[in-house]
Amino acid sequence: MQINSTVHTTCAYCGVGCGIKATVEDTDKRIVSIQGDTEHPANYGRLCSKGSSLGETISLEGRLLEPHIAGQNVSWPTAIDKVANEFKRIIAEHGKESVAFYVSGQILTEDYYVANKLMKGYIGTANIDTNSRLCMSSAVAGHKRAFGADTVPANYDDFDHANLIVLVGSNTAWCHPIIFQRIKAIKAQRPELRIVVVDPRETATNEIADLHLPIKAGMDVLLFNALLVQLAERNALDPQYIAQYTVDFEKAFAAANQDVGDKSTLAERIGVDSQSLATFFDWFCQTPKTMTCFSMGVNQSSAGTDKVNAIINCHLATGRVGKEGASPFSLTGQPNAMGGREVGGLANMLAAHMDIENPVHRERVQRFWQSPVIADKSGLKAVDLFDAMYEGKIKAVWIMATNPVVSLPNADKVRAALEKCELVVVSDCITDTDTTRLADVLLPSLGWGEKDGTVTNSERRISRQRGFLPAPAQAKPDWWALSQVAQAMGFDGFDYQSPADVFNEHIALSAFENDANIESGLRDFNLVGLGQLNTQQYNALQPIQWPVLNKDQGTARLFAQGQFYTPNRLARFMPLTSRAPKNPLSAEYPFILNTGRIRDQWHTMTRTGLTPRLLQHIGEPYAELHPNDAKKLAIQAGDLVEINSAWGKAVVRAQLSDGQRQGSVFVPMHWTGVLTRQSRVGAVVNPAVDPVSGQPENKHTPIKVSKF
Ligand code: SF4
Repeated sequence: MQINSTVHTTCAYCGVGCGIKATVEDTDKRIVSIQGDTEHPANYGRLCSKGSSLGETISLEGRLLEPHIAGQNVSWPTAIDKVANEFKRIIAEHGKESVAFYVSGQILTEDYYVANKLMKGYIGTANIDTNSRLCMSSAVAGHKRAFGADTVPANYDDFDHANLIVLVGSNTAWCHPIIFQRIKAIKAQRPELRIVVVDPRETATNEIADLHLPIKAGMDVLLFNALLVQLAERNALDPQYIAQYTVDFEKAFAAANQDVGDKSTLAERIGVDSQSLATFFDWFCQTPKTMTCFSMGVNQSSAGTDKVNAIINCHLATGRVGKEGASPFSLTGQPNAMGGREVGGLANMLAAHMDIENPVHRERVQRFWQSPVIADKSGLKAVDLFDAMYEGKIKAVWIMATNPVVSLPNADKVRAALEKCELVVVSDCITDTDTTRLADVLLPSLGWGEKDGTVTNSERRISRQRGFLPAPAQAKPDWWALSQVAQAMGFDGFDYQSPADVFNEHIALSAFENDANIESGLRDFNLVGLGQLNTQQYNALQPIQWPVLNKDQGTARLFAQGQFYTPNRLARFMPLTSRAPKNPLSAEYPFILNTGRIRDQWHTMTRTGLTPRLLQHIGEPYAELHPNDAKKLAIQAGDLVEINSAWGKAVVRAQLSDGQRQGSVFVPMHWTGVLTRQSRVGAVVNPAVDPVSGQPENKHTPIKVSKF
């Protein structure tokens, strides 16, 4: 059937959140042409290789199209009853803490909202966590410590105004390609824009770098503590901003000074040459319009939250927060990691950025929902959640749109944990994944191009993700499946007819008692200016940055004039001491494993793996080693190598690169047990986590490498 209608939507992949125009050429054959949306402020028409090939990923190949119980097709009512009855039985027998949800930055805000409401307000436990825990929970914790809220002060336009951009632990060229292309274009126009890349590894991002600091793994806190000391010694602080809008500068400075210690050995301890270090300090001290962008290399660490705060300390000290071209800036991994958090998508949060540990917030949310209960303490974070399944404490789990048997650390233990559960429910688009193979109940979800809702990108911009294809067979929205199960469990409050109904409740909760005059009232996340939207208005919703305090007006930047979300409205400096990664190298495991993304694949490749042209970039799993390490190990490029840690092993092909730091090995995270049986690198990754954020240390696992 010929249709030729064009729909404005957003990309399914990374946190840049690019706008897309999808034109349906043939609905029956699911032929769709994809273009960048020139009007969307995240990308102004640009798309990367992944986004521009989305049209090639919407066939029904491999799709989960019917509910299944124990491998048999069943009707939706049968599947709903099974899930509801089993959850009720397990709760009755073992208590509410024996059940859990594990969701994803891939689902829409409306799905997240209903999942959180059901678990925290009706079942009454906060055992709902998300794969965003693996992605940016350290950024969340760092923002909350410093700003009192999970808030990003800047936006993408700030790149246009910056004179220095520092990219820390971020292969922006591959992981946030449209941001990289934007910065590259700015640099072509303004060659005086300086770019510093802080990364142990030389990556594609180095193409635009004026300076590369290949720091030793885990040295970020020491680097930024040393920068704080330099700023003070060179009179590069902003004393007025510090005095007017912050607390605890003296404590942070004293801790930094002590941490830095003997300056004659500083560069060596950080792992860079002293001239490069001095240049970085010079540039940062001299450049008011500085953006420091950070991503997984900072967050995925047992000191991730401290690393985030070490960066923020330097920006608070110079007053470079929320000003044009000057801010710390977290680059989010997933398309809706931020939208999920806005509705309480982490086990330690409540909806609308309220805190589960705050009794006033708990009472407020329960009163708004008129729910029978409210979770009264934080739930288990991702790694602990699966450990609790392994230990038999959690007996039922509902997993949505994520593949933890591949992506979580210590992934063989995750598989064993799911095998021990009495009930594993998986909602997904894809029939055969490492995780769906362990499901008792499979529920078919709508995929990209079919589902309707909202997402929030790295710059706090909420955009509509719109469906343009009909739902195939029995696939349904996740918010609908959750609402059906909630009602089958006997709960009121889930009579949603559309995603707009859910979004309107979300708007209302964000504004509910959100006022500086109410005790524990004023919160960062507020959509009051949107009002309540009818279906037409919801469908027409334009990209907008929260908070939305006045009618249809977003907020581009925050905190240039203070007004933080701490109780006294002042930002907090954090006193920090650098510390080594949790698991040290040893004679048995002398190399550092660092995992991450490659340019043309996404997560566990269930969508990008469908596109031959994306596989042309890199077609098989590999380990990148420094040539000197390879020589010592008698490994040549192209050899199969076995990578072993104390937790598991994987077999991949060796690649050699001078850009790899000696003693370190990079392996992409994407390949699954379904695709290549022995190449699931998550099985090798250590389960160490940051003590504040619970984010795993994917960037530092002690390993040994040998020829296979
Ligand atoms: Fe999609 Fe990210 Fe590429 Fe934009 S940069 S097109 S959001 S994958």
